[in-house]
Amino acid sequence: MTRGGRWARVDVDPTAIEHNVGVLRRRSEPAGVWAVVKADGYGHGAVVAAQAALRAGAAGLCVALVAEGVELREAGVDAPILLLSEQPVDQVDAMLHYRMTPTVYTSGSVNALADRADAPVAVHVNVDTGMQRVGVQPGDVAALVEVLHARADVVSVAGVYTHLACADEPDHPANDEQLGAFDRVLAELVAAGVPVGIQHAANSAAALANPGARRSFVRAGIAIYGISPGPGVDHLCDELRPALDLAARVSLVKRVAAGTHVSYGWRHRFDRDTTVATVPVGYADGVPRRLGTVSDGGVVRAGADVLIGGRRCPIVGVVTMDQFMVDVGDLPVAAGDDVVLIGEQGDQRIRAEDWAERLGTIGYEVVCGLSARLPRMVLGDSEPS
Ligand SMILES: *Cc1c(COP(=O)(O)O)cnc(C)c1O
Repeated sequence: MTRGGRWARVDVDPTAIEHNVGVLRRRSEPAGVWAVVKADGYGHGAVVAAQAALRAGAAGLCVALVAEGVELREAGVDAPILLLSEQPVDQVDAMLHYRMTPTVYTSGSVNALADRADAPVAVHVNVDTGMQRVGVQPGDVAALVEVLHARADVVSVAGVYTHLACADEPDHPANDEQLGAFDRVLAELVAAGVPVGIQHAANSAAALANPGARRSFVRAGIAIYGISPGPGVDHLCDELRPALDLAARVSLVKRVAAGTHVSYGWRHRFDRDTTVATVPVGYADGVPRRLGTVSDGGVVRAGADVLIGGRRCPIVGVVTMDQFMVDVGDLPVAAGDDVVLIGEQGDQRIRAEDWAERLGTIGYEVVCGLSARLPRMVLGDSEPS
């Protein structure tokens, strides 16, 4: 069967997300869980991920962009939605109209909200304790507090948070350093008459590894999708279940002789007679070009494995835009056979983390990279979404 007109698909299992949110809730108690569904739910589908997380008891949702919050509201999601950074001024009306919780850290942003809002707005203040990305610097908190007091008729502070740079390395000194800086800012806010109601600091890695970071709720993204935040916390991810599979069908097979080369640049040469299977998925779908080759001390070897007939078979040659080739040896493979790129077949499993390790990146980039060209199927539904 083809889906979305092609022999390739992403299958998303909402029950895995529910399970993972349950695991995080248990581990984080008494802190709650807010599910991070930015970037289309890390490639899983934002609405599906949000609904699954809420069914499993997530208390709220986090997004990066106003458009991401709009998508959730238009799908009928009623839970609190926190925007994780300040947004362009032209987004303020939509942000308010769709009842999102803004993050603020500059006076300009507080004033823009206060100028445009026709009802009270509750905001969260992001404090930059070491990322140097977004948030108010601790030294600038006093000035921000003045603006907050001046606009207190419209803007109220409902929460204060920070973000850890090294949470996936639980022993890194940055973790204590950042939480210490966060606590000093919280004390300063209270002393300045800004009530600190809700506070939060933990991403998935900190939720799993750092009890002192859990606070009012954890902001969990990658772990709700069943993917480890990084090797330093792999040992805490045993209970998580991957929520996404990437699969395809073999589109063509051919027998080739020893000495034959394959794909652009002829980077791979077969040293024996073998069977080559073509899989109609490529880098335009998010399978990185270099997944098919490994440079090992200057020698180019075969790349990552896929599963065909329950066996691991290596991708050979560079992945092309729409297709790649696999060395299936003497296995009796035929056009139409199932190929698993990420997921399980027989007793074998390939994880997003396996790609990440080979590519020198993290599982986040693998799943966020799966493009919109791949049909997404929600398990339990009958039509591609
Ligand atoms: C993306 C993001 C998260 C989620 O991080 P995970 O590692 O995926 O759990 C949490 N907080 C902020 C501020 C983020 O930008």
